[in-house]
Amino acid sequence: MQVTDLFSKFDPLIAIRKEMLSHGGRDPFAVVMEKVLSPTKAIIKGKPVILLGTYNYMGMTFDPDVIAAGEKALKEFGAGTTGSRVLNGTYQGHKACEEALKDYYGMEHAMVFSTGYQANLGMISTLAGKGEYVIIDADSHASIYDGCRLGNAEIIRFRHNSPEDLDRRLARLPKEAGKLVVLEGVYSMLGDIAPLAEMVAIAKKHDALILDDEAHGMGFFGKNGRGVFEELGLEGQIDFIVGTFSKSVGTVGGFCVSNHPQFEVLRLVCRPYVFTASLPPSVVATAEASIRKLQKANDKREHLWKNSRRLHSGLKEMGFNLGTETAQSAIIAVILPDQEQAVAMWQNLLELGLYVNLARPPATPAGMFLLRCSLCAEHSDDDVTEILAMFKKAGQATGVLAA
Ligand code: PMP
Repeated sequence: MQVTDLFSKFDPLIAIRKEMLSHGGRDPFAVVMEKVLSPTKAIIKGKPVILLGTYNYMGMTFDPDVIAAGEKALKEFGAGTTGSRVLNGTYQGHKACEEALKDYYGMEHAMVFSTGYQANLGMISTLAGKGEYVIIDADSHASIYDGCRLGNAEIIRFRHNSPEDLDRRLARLPKEAGKLVVLEGVYSMLGDIAPLAEMVAIAKKHDALILDDEAHGMGFFGKNGRGVFEELGLEGQIDFIVGTFSKSVGTVGGFCVSNHPQFEVLRLVCRPYVFTASLPPSVVATAEASIRKLQKANDKREHLWKNSRRLHSGLKEMGFNLGTETAQSAIIAVILPDQEQAVAMWQNLLELGLYVNLARPPATPAGMFLLRCSLCAEHSDDDVTEILAMFKKAGQATGVLAA
């Protein structure tokens, strides 16, 4: 009897990668940042590059106050907690970070998780159980899909950003059953934002609770940088806001904030919160310092929007096919027809001194190949000019743009 090779299911992927690398190109998924000079500059293969493929939207990674807070906590509290939040792993820094989140969002409760991925895993799998429903957008982030898999609720998908489809699907469910609608403020592959006002109204009409993942909206949407829901005037209407420290906050970690009166019980029943070690003291200290500064970062927010609009209109004028008609967020996605052109453009840009993210199926919707550009508030006007010039050069060299 022949025993199945557990790795044989990966053969198609191994073949695709082989083909991609067979032209002597670099591996887009094995880039090493040899040095990081600032939120927007790094050294890759000995060469300086402008970073246009990070989630460092607000440029907080090198903020002197953030670094000082981390250094102090590292010295005073050590390198790690070696334990769960519910046992020995809650330090005063975790509570201070939760206080900063409550102030930032103006909400009663905040729970810090070890990553944003775990925040979605935990919230979704714990809130909705057997006989209940989670209703998600078809283009939801992997952490939302995985949260659904970890739980026992029934999962219903609706068409991406379609309030009508959400309404139709909710109407088919038993009226008395518990329901959780999961939305995202910004969808990270194409950088498009959700019609949250319509969706929230529909979810409420059907008595569903609402969870909104603002991973890519925190920092620069809304007067206080709370996210797309704030920008759209939906404060007080969303039951759970999930977010991450790995984007605008500039470190690592995840959270959920809420005004739900029973929220604190989740600390005892949410497995991805209980059964993992808490964040190191230095990390929660950097997060707290960063969140407090982001509250007052209006100049940075404005500059980030200016950068995003300039890059979007510049690329559009050159003739690139973009994920959105206008700049809806700080993510500008350049759509390429196939893997070959996407890899060629990616490589050409890197050689010219620009790093962007290459995204391919299954991470992307509708089998798309994307060069995902994400701007930072620390990109200067000259950086954006240089970035546009590099896109033009790479586009012409690869034949994506007419010469
Ligand atoms: N939600 C969304 C929408 C995301 O894009 C991401 C990360 N890319 C996460 C959650 C997970 O965040 P983290 O990096 O903190 O695990």
